[in-house]
Amino acid sequence: MKIGVLALQGAVREHVRQIQTLGCEAIEVKSMNDLPGLKGLVLPGGESTVMRKLLDRYGLLEPVRSLAKKGVPMFGTCAGLILLAKEIVGCEEAHLKLMDVVVERNSFGRQVDSFEVEISIEKVGKDIPAVFIRAPHIVSVGPGVEILAEYDGRIVLAKQGQYLGCSFHPELTGDTRLMEYFIEMAKEIHPSTLAKTNRI
Ligand code: GLN
Repeated sequence: MKIGVLALQGAVREHVRQIQTLGCEAIEVKSMNDLPGLKGLVLPGGESTVMRKLLDRYGLLEPVRSLAKKGVPMFGTCAGLILLAKEIVGCEEAHLKLMDVVVERNSFGRQVDSFEVEISIEKVGKDIPAVFIRAPHIVSVGPGVEILAEYDGRIVLAKQGQYLGCSFHPELTGDTRLMEYFIEMAKEIHPSTLAKTNRI
């Protein structure tokens, strides 16, 4: 089973390693030629504004959106969550606009304020290590969105059908349970769920 990792910038290698540890083939996505055959796509953390520029430069924005419309599950971590969001506070135009969430950037302080905590994630585990680096949070969610975890009174993980988005970096720890959850999602997703999740 092939799981792609958008490999334009950011924490790519760590996701690749987790995907391989879980017995899947990891594909580093650098152009639209890398997209066919993917059963899931991870949008890593990094810097969302830079990633957006590179998505435009390499002509990947629309191909990634089309992949989503075909029902391929997507997992956005940190900057990746920002890319997925329908709306970004203070930003006129969001990026992929696939997941019905409003996000605010840099909600947990600057790079030097980075921290690791253990959070409890419904359906995944009670003591999941989560690294926050200039992390966004989810301000509000649309009707079809399930909130899976909160930290410090803020939503930090949510799922909407084929989309999973988290504020933190799960890949920077040795714990693969959240990636495992995403891979299970990718195995289960069926085209019949498409109509419901792709209204944006
Ligand atoms: N603050 C970054 C952004 O807005 C995200 C940080 C991260 O991915 N660790 O893109």
